[in-house]
Parts: sequence; C-alpha cells; structure tokens
Amino acid sequence: MTTQRRTAQKQAICDALRALDHPSATEVYAYLQGKEPAVSRGTVFRVLSAFSECGKVRRLRLLGDDTHYDFNTSPHAHACCRKCGRVWDIEGVSVPLALPEGFLFEESELEVSGVCAACAGKG
Ligand SMILES: [Zn+2]
Ligand SMILES: [Zn+2]
Repeated sequence: MTTQRRTAQKQAICDALRALDHPSATEVYAYLQGKEPAVSRGTVFRVLSAFSECGKVRRLRLLGDDTHYDFNTSPHAHACCRKCGRVWDIEGVSVPLALPEGFLFEESELEVSGVCAACAGKG
C-alpha cells in the first residue's frame, strides 16, 4: 500500500469519526463501506488504536462490549443510554473532587448511564 493511499484511508476514518457520534470500530467500518470500500476492517481497527495511542482520539469504555471512539479529546463527560446505546457529550465537567492528597490528576472518564427521553417515552 502506498503512503498516499494510507493517508487517504486515515483521512476517511477521521471523517467517519466526525460524522458518527462516538462510534465503535465496527460502526466506522460499516460507514466506510459505502464510501471507501477499499478500507479493510483490520485497517479500521489498527488506525483507531494508533490514533488513540497518540492521543488523536479518545477511547471510551462505554456500556456494552465494543470500544467506542471520540475525536473530541477535550475533557468532557459522557451520558449513555443503556437502551439505545446513544452517547451524549457533557461539557464543563471538571476534575473529580476530593482526590487523595498529592495525587497528580491526569484525566478522568466520567460516564453517566441511564435511559434517554426517547427510550423512556417508549415505556
Ligand atoms: Zn435511548
Ligand atoms: Zn464525547
């Protein structure tokens, strides 16, 4: 694979992360099938984990088994609906209170789980 081709695939994966809302690697792959069919499932997984290692995307441990990715790397929390799996960003959530003395804060991943209005409305 040429460098140019790889760059194009990485770009397509970046675009998918922006277009989708906190997608899993599987969702990114499904999305790309219609646009960049040459991108293999393995490439999607590899590129996403490389992105998260270099801090380009955030890897989320949300409900369910799949790892989800977030291109918004600024500190924010997430609310996830355990029925439909939708994820919302919650801005303005800061450092947890009452850290042990001398503890150097690096990052926190706050995830709030519950049921969204749409799912609650379905009974
Ligand atoms: Zn829901
Ligand atoms: Zn987010």
